[in-house]
Amino acid sequence: MRREQDAHKPQAAATVIGHRQAPVAATRAPLSASTRTAGAATVAIGPSRGVSKRPIASAAPRGAAVNKPSAATKTVGVGGSRRKPWDLKGKVTDMEDKIRNYQTKARSANEEMETLKGSLSHNQNRMSQLEKEVEQQKSQISKYETQLEALSQVRQELEKVSSDKNLLQKELSNLEQKYKVMETLRDSQETELQTLKMKLSVQESTMTRLQNTLRDREEEVHSLKETVAEQKEELHAGEMERRRLHNTIQELKASQHSPGNIRVFCRVRPLVDGGFSKHIQLPASDDKSIVLAKTEESHTGKTGDTHKNYNFSFDRVFGPKASQQEIFDEISLLVQSALDGYNVCVFAYGQTGSGKTYTMEGEEYDDTRGVIPRAVQQVFKAGQKLATQGWEFTFTASFVEIYNETLRDLLYTGKASKRPEHEIRKMSNNEVTVTNLTYEKVYTEDQVQGLIALAKQNRSTAQTSQNDRSSRSHSVFQLHIEGVNAGRDVTCKSTLCLVDLAGSERMVKSQSQGDRFKEMTAINSSLSNLGIVITSLANKESHIPYRNSKLTYLLQGCLGGNSKTLMFVNISPELDSFGETLNSLRFASKVNDCVIGTASSNKK
Ligand code: ADP
Ligand code: MG
Repeated sequence: MRREQDAHKPQAAATVIGHRQAPVAATRAPLSASTRTAGAATVAIGPSRGVSKRPIASAAPRGAAVNKPSAATKTVGVGGSRRKPWDLKGKVTDMEDKIRNYQTKARSANEEMETLKGSLSHNQNRMSQLEKEVEQQKSQISKYETQLEALSQVRQELEKVSSDKNLLQKELSNLEQKYKVMETLRDSQETELQTLKMKLSVQESTMTRLQNTLRDREEEVHSLKETVAEQKEELHAGEMERRRLHNTIQELKASQHSPGNIRVFCRVRPLVDGGFSKHIQLPASDDKSIVLAKTEESHTGKTGDTHKNYNFSFDRVFGPKASQQEIFDEISLLVQSALDGYNVCVFAYGQTGSGKTYTMEGEEYDDTRGVIPRAVQQVFKAGQKLATQGWEFTFTASFVEIYNETLRDLLYTGKASKRPEHEIRKMSNNEVTVTNLTYEKVYTEDQVQGLIALAKQNRSTAQTSQNDRSSRSHSVFQLHIEGVNAGRDVTCKSTLCLVDLAGSERMVKSQSQGDRFKEMTAINSSLSNLGIVITSLANKESHIPYRNSKLTYLLQGCLGGNSKTLMFVNISPELDSFGETLNSLRFASKVNDCVIGTASSNKK
């Protein structure tokens, strides 16, 4: 817009020039340098300004005015001095030419401007068209860019597919190789199979040969079997003879000291610190005597110390160094008797802490195992040996605790709250049985060890409620043995009883009150009743008071005529146990003096 206004201005000036008489302002409009020179000429003419009377436009024809000015100007410029000063008309004509000339120039300038204006708007149109085209191109470019992007994704996928293809090709070649290997393997196996078939046919012929040999051998075996049977017969006769002789030896052994079948072994426990006690003397000359020596200081000081010796002798006396094996060696003959059909009873008697449980049960390790596990081991081993001679044995175990004259099943595995009560019953065949008691058939040593462990556990659970109960109760392990020799129609039946008795200590009267008093009475009466039963058996009394205590009632089948009995008297070596030791040794030697008939085997 602004540009358009500017463009009109020169035109307005030209118009002014066209209608007024040579105004000075018009001649001063900026023009080219050559025009200015002409202006200067005009100024020089100034003084004659007011003289002009006629409009310039009409002074000469237009065409001539346009063509002439340069010549006229030239004439004026060069030849100004040629016009006569008075030739005003000529001068006016020159001026008019000049004006005409200017007007023509202005017109042509206007025209040029119009043309420029036209070309400007054309150019503007062209530009906006070009801008539109640029926009189109831009959008086209962005389209191409998206397409390019899509193409690059496609290229990536293509690359992935080609790498996959490579992998698959590798795998394929691997598989092909494997296949080749398998083929060779198959070929080699086929050849092997062929070889094996050949070998098989060779072996088949060998087998036929061997079968023939076997038939010959079988005949041989048959005749050998007959020989064996004959020899077995001889062996059985030998075994019977061995039993007879074994029993004779036992009786002879027993009669070395006392003529009965109750034997007594004394065992002295080692001191806890391993030293040796002075008041117990074991003469080196034999292994049957023990001397208890007491030194009493004189109260008056006049008579000097008095020495008192108590001498005892038993079937064997074992010192503190005797091992569990040595102990068992001495009673293994007795255990053998149980398999031969004799009832066998082994008791451990003594005060609490004297080594009864150690002797009977012992401890876990092989060296320290006691009589029960060793006896069981021997019985099973001997049973196996006798099996080769046609004997078949059944072993049944039971384990009972007698506390306060009440029986408790030590092999019970049920709920504590449902523990049954027990009664001792004598059957019509004079055998003793206990109601509700666990009688467990045993086949292996390990099984018996398991039962001993169970009994130990059962006893210790009872102990938590009543402290040190095990030392105030008797525990009785019984192995019932039944042997059948079907071929010879012989049977035998016996019981091996291994008894860990309650502590034999007497209690200070002032300490025994309530339950403790009741316990003590029960223990004392059952232990003394055991002594009484043994003595009455020895004296062949018509009435034997078995029923006076649960212990003797339970064991009545195993005590007496048809039994072999052994009592261990266990001794504590400490000086403060002197009194109890003396009591134990006195009780044991009373028992040792008993003769209870001569045992006879339960063989039918
Ligand atoms: P009891 O059953 O008579 O009360 P124990 O058998 O429990 O006595 O023995 C008491 C302690 O003495 C136990 O620790 C036991 O291991 C130990 N003992 C007993 N006798 C022997 C022995 N001959 N050798 C080594 N230790 C023994
Ligand atoms: Mg004990």
